[in-house]
Amino acid sequence: MIKKKVLIITTGGTISMQYHSEHGVVPDDNLIQLLNNFPQLTSVAEIEVLEYANMPSPHITPKQMFELAKLVDEKIEYYDSVIITHGTDSLEETAYLHDLVLKTRKPVIFTAAMRSGSDLGLDGPRNIVGAVRAAVHEESIDKGVLVVMNDEIHTAHDIVKSDTGKLESFVSPNYGILGIVDPDKVVYQRQLLTRDNVWTDELEYNIDLITVAAGMDGRYVDCSIKNGARGIVIEAFGRGNVPPTMVEAIKRAVDMGIVVVVVSRAFKGRVLPEYGYEGGGLHLQRIGVILGEDMKGPKARLRMMALFGKYKDPQQVKKYFTSVVEE
Ligand code: ASP
Repeated sequence: MIKKKVLIITTGGTISMQYHSEHGVVPDDNLIQLLNNFPQLTSVAEIEVLEYANMPSPHITPKQMFELAKLVDEKIEYYDSVIITHGTDSLEETAYLHDLVLKTRKPVIFTAAMRSGSDLGLDGPRNIVGAVRAAVHEESIDKGVLVVMNDEIHTAHDIVKSDTGKLESFVSPNYGILGIVDPDKVVYQRQLLTRDNVWTDELEYNIDLITVAAGMDGRYVDCSIKNGARGIVIEAFGRGNVPPTMVEAIKRAVDMGIVVVVVSRAFKGRVLPEYGYEGGGLHLQRIGVILGEDMKGPKARLRMMALFGKYKDPQQVKKYFTSVVEE
């Protein structure tokens, strides 16, 4: 049987790190060595490895994420699928941006590790093999960007890192996993029905994210205004409510043409125009704020970067923030 061709692009993260007594857990070149000599991989697919970077994922910027997506777009033509190894901290953001901007129907799968190369009970090699097995599976085609962690297959749209240290950290809190990677086969049981594509050649980087806490005032919103932000994502309480002390500044931003999107700081669920009191979701919607459905703040920020990159016009960004983009 002809084996499928899989390109593994490494970017760094704990999966590429080792413990050193002097420096703590830091980047290392063990992953590349491992990938090039790993029989469980070569028996499943024809593997090529490309090092994009070896950085901790808190170091990655949206600009680098976008560059990486362009690299994937360029390379995937020559392979059946692409896997990206990444740090777990910002993995959900990079994966989601790829889901937005990539046109390919071929599998693009992110994976990572919660444990470094010097920890007991390594999860990195198992996750990479799981990702490769999913990548060569017919049913992984046209499913959007996926994340394989801990034998589970997640969508880039839903996945979040939920625990700072546990192996089972990655969850899809709103809609659940799509399938599993079991020892004998890959099993899909669900399908993502909505697609989030925003095919753009550029991003607008000046988009801020502010998380609400009790009693907060408008100073952070004013800071964004002062720094020329084109858009602000506010992670609000519950269904999308903020303290009344923030409303003036939000109104100021909206009146200046800044796109303000409210999502929830709650772990699950959608925001709604439900509460009409000052700062409630209904009140915010009436003053021109967009309610950002079930998105988490960091992903909503990337969506706004892509929409501004594509349309430039705030009215179009508002229109398409919660609806399917006409490509
Ligand atoms: N701090 C690491 C990173 O994101 C954590 C990890 O990869 O698990 O690069």
